[in-house]
Amino acid sequence: MKTANQNIKPITTCINAEGNIEIGGCDLTELANEYGTPLYVFDEATIRSMTKSYKDAFKSYPKMKMMFASKAFMTKAICKIMQQEDFGLDLCSGGEIYTAKSAGFDMSRTLFNGNNKTYEELNMALEYGVGTISVDNFFELALLNNLAEAQNKNIRVLLRITPGIECHTHEYIQTGHLDSKFGFDLAQVDEAIELIKDEYKNLNLIGLHAHIGSQIFEKKVYYDEVGVIFGEIKRIKEKHNIFLSEINLGGGLGIKYTEKDAPISVYEIAETIINSIEEHSAKYEIEAPFVFIEPGRSIVGTSGVTLYTAGSSKQVPNGRKYQSVDGGMSDNVRPSMYQAEYTVEIANKPNEKADAKVTISGKHCESGDILAKDIMLPEIEEGDIVCFYNTGAYGYSMSSNYNRALKAAAVLVNNGKSDIIVSRQTYDELCGSDVIPDRLN
Ligand SMILES: *Cc1c(COP(=O)(O)O)cnc(C)c1O
Repeated sequence: MKTANQNIKPITTCINAEGNIEIGGCDLTELANEYGTPLYVFDEATIRSMTKSYKDAFKSYPKMKMMFASKAFMTKAICKIMQQEDFGLDLCSGGEIYTAKSAGFDMSRTLFNGNNKTYEELNMALEYGVGTISVDNFFELALLNNLAEAQNKNIRVLLRITPGIECHTHEYIQTGHLDSKFGFDLAQVDEAIELIKDEYKNLNLIGLHAHIGSQIFEKKVYYDEVGVIFGEIKRIKEKHNIFLSEINLGGGLGIKYTEKDAPISVYEIAETIINSIEEHSAKYEIEAPFVFIEPGRSIVGTSGVTLYTAGSSKQVPNGRKYQSVDGGMSDNVRPSMYQAEYTVEIANKPNEKADAKVTISGKHCESGDILAKDIMLPEIEEGDIVCFYNTGAYGYSMSSNYNRALKAAAVLVNNGKSDIIVSRQTYDELCGSDVIPDRLN
């Protein structure tokens, strides 16, 4: 069965009677008019169709648990949706912990991970009742144990390991290969376990955590990942007489940014993972553990689009045609950071023939601030609403104030209704943290 991550567009996308693109029953040109641009638009139906697909696809394995990797798009409203969908949250900073807590999220269903959690962040995690901490390195084991001891708490921990699996994705978003900044090398696992057993009495080791990368299109890497982790569980059981009852496989399922991408469905990945679990629990004679997955991109990516207003344009004599829009690398850094490609349409001209080659440039002071290079679109005029699909993940969450650009607003659309979930930053907020020392006055 197909799942929404295999679409380029949100599942409710259509062309309405006015001849404009509509998502969640809302005309994109009207949204641009009402809320201004740049604007992130999130289709609630697409988000919920993805969470439901994950739950449905894994239902034959009752010890399966879902978490949303919040870094893909973290706001209070998304925490509410995840709580309603019975997902936990994967958090990786004090800011994400704070957001979840402020949204009233059940903190026992959160996991804190990251390769350099600070003293303050770990303390905050303990105080706020974060359910589990994925410990990344030896330094953190000692630090966390000290803090837990001081607060007289026992902490559920996972060991983040590097399973040594390479996946074919961009180098910056690979994480599971051996030479990675994340996690314990498999050769370091025994030492970590000995330390927890002998010295770190406030840490309760319950399992292993891995994450092999992002925007993954292959099933086999998940099959292999389960095999490596089950092998470790067997080895740890024999060597240390500890049975680890939870494994966390990370996230990484890919989405379809352009026609060139062929992501697999949630059902395919689920079948692969469940088969591998069954095979490897039989092979290693271990009781099937609780298995967590924590997708981010595939939950929110397809649901989100970004709207821009077309501004100036430039035809280089005998060269490219550049069309500028009112956003750029401040609201979507992915094209300039790792040559990410997108599918683009003009929200007020979806039926016009895409017969003009154009490069969509951002408004920032960097030549690299190009959002889409040499794409085919209908002839663009100033004031047209340019729609970038698939910006729901790692768009807003990676946004910046470069050039003192205001952070764009985000709206959630559903059944013809639109609601602000992030209001547009104001100039006062922008300058709110600036301080002029007395001696400069
Ligand atoms: C980023 C990350 C995820 C989510 O990855 P996606 O590709 O967005 O699904 C999951 N787990 C960990 C540990 C991560 O760092």
